[in-house]
Amino acid sequence: MKVITTVKDMQAEMIQQKANGKTIGFVPTMGYLHEGHLTLIRHARKENDLVVLSIFVNPLQFGPKEDFATYPRDFARDRALAESEKVDYIFYPETREMYPNSPSVKVIVQERTDVLCGKSRPGHFDGVATVITKLFSIVMPTRAYFGKKDAQQVAVIDGLISDFNFPVELVAVDTVREQDGLAKSSRNVNLLPEEREQATILYRSLQAAKESIANGERNSESLINLIKTMITSQSSGQIDYVEIYSYPQLKPLERLEGRVIIALAVKFTNVRLIDNLIIEVNKQ
Ligand code: AMP
Repeated sequence: MKVITTVKDMQAEMIQQKANGKTIGFVPTMGYLHEGHLTLIRHARKENDLVVLSIFVNPLQFGPKEDFATYPRDFARDRALAESEKVDYIFYPETREMYPNSPSVKVIVQERTDVLCGKSRPGHFDGVATVITKLFSIVMPTRAYFGKKDAQQVAVIDGLISDFNFPVELVAVDTVREQDGLAKSSRNVNLLPEEREQATILYRSLQAAKESIANGERNSESLINLIKTMITSQSSGQIDYVEIYSYPQLKPLERLEGRVIIALAVKFTNVRLIDNLIIEVNKQ
């Protein structure tokens, strides 16, 4: 496994490998790896000749009051985990390598960002789309792997690949969870102990909504209220949003039908958690 820290070296390696006919599976991350990331890596390992993992905590996608400074980091541990998953390359640039000057161009996401995290984190998806555009130009992947835990990100990257004609296949991978249902996240370490227990309410409330849909409920507002009541009564977390849309279009639905996303974000003391459920709802 090679660790590469400069754009120039990474591009030179990738150009060489592509000239040799190798397919490249790319897993972009912000590091502090967990089973969710490792699952993406395993998919990439199975489907490509080479696997590239990037580790870069991208300042552009954090708002001024967000957790850029406290985002967990541990490169030595990440490196050992990547090695054991047979990653071929880690791209690990410093911020000044990725953004040497104040940017002369940035990518602005026009659609699918007026709701969910796009609404409560203004500029977040512009930062994501900008860094992914750069990473695609540096790594030149055949396939890129993203987690459905960040379902709006998948929808945005889908638009980016299509609008900018990147010759990249997007692979979206199911959310990996702890045994008690909490979606794995690097940020979970920043939950206080009592909040860690309460945080299972995110998943449990989504499951309750799923059950209610199975029993015939189709009204968005009723389902949103069910989830909000569960979260506020069983945790100290502050609800940022609970919303339901068509997926991946992210259009509002009064009544559920077709493929829908039920998504939520909850703020705890030092961390904001997100989770979602994407389901096919049949017409009644
Ligand atoms: P991050 O390091 O948080 O930016 O995540 C890097 C990639 O891993 C993104 O595509 C995430 O959606 C994905 N990911 C994060 N957590 C999970 C999870 N619990 N299950 C599946 N994928 C995940």
